Amino acid sequence: MSVIVKDSKIQGKGVFADRDLKKGEIVLKWDTSIILTEKEAKKIPKRYKKYLVFFNGKYIFAQSPEKYLNHSCEPNTKEGKLCDIAIRDIKKGEEITTDYSIDAIPHIKMKCACKSKKCKKII
Ligand SMILES: [Zn+2]
Repeated sequence: MSVIVKDSKIQGKGVFADRDLKKGEIVLKWDTSIILTEKEAKKIPKRYKKYLVFFNGKYIFAQSPEKYLNHSCEPNTKEGKLCDIAIRDIKKGEEITTDYSIDAIPHIKMKCACKSKKCKKII
């Protein structure tokens, strides 16, 4: 595993690089052991909805560490096929972020706290 989970400056816990990562490297592989139907996904308590990932018409209930992946409007990873891929070199200790608005979970809107200059505020 090339990442660790610890307290984040963005919010709650975050995922951090545990070694230098190169652009194009797979940073996280998703654990897809829990897949929900749309009906089940809608019943999930609000506080857990941020752990849902929408992929190919399926709702994946994210497991650790990827469930701690924070959003940034200037992310350093992008979504690959059931994984997150570095879009630039990432230094050891940097927080790993992704753009949730690309994952486009239909019924979730959140305020963003990424502090990026390009912040979209609502995602
Ligand atoms: Zn933002």
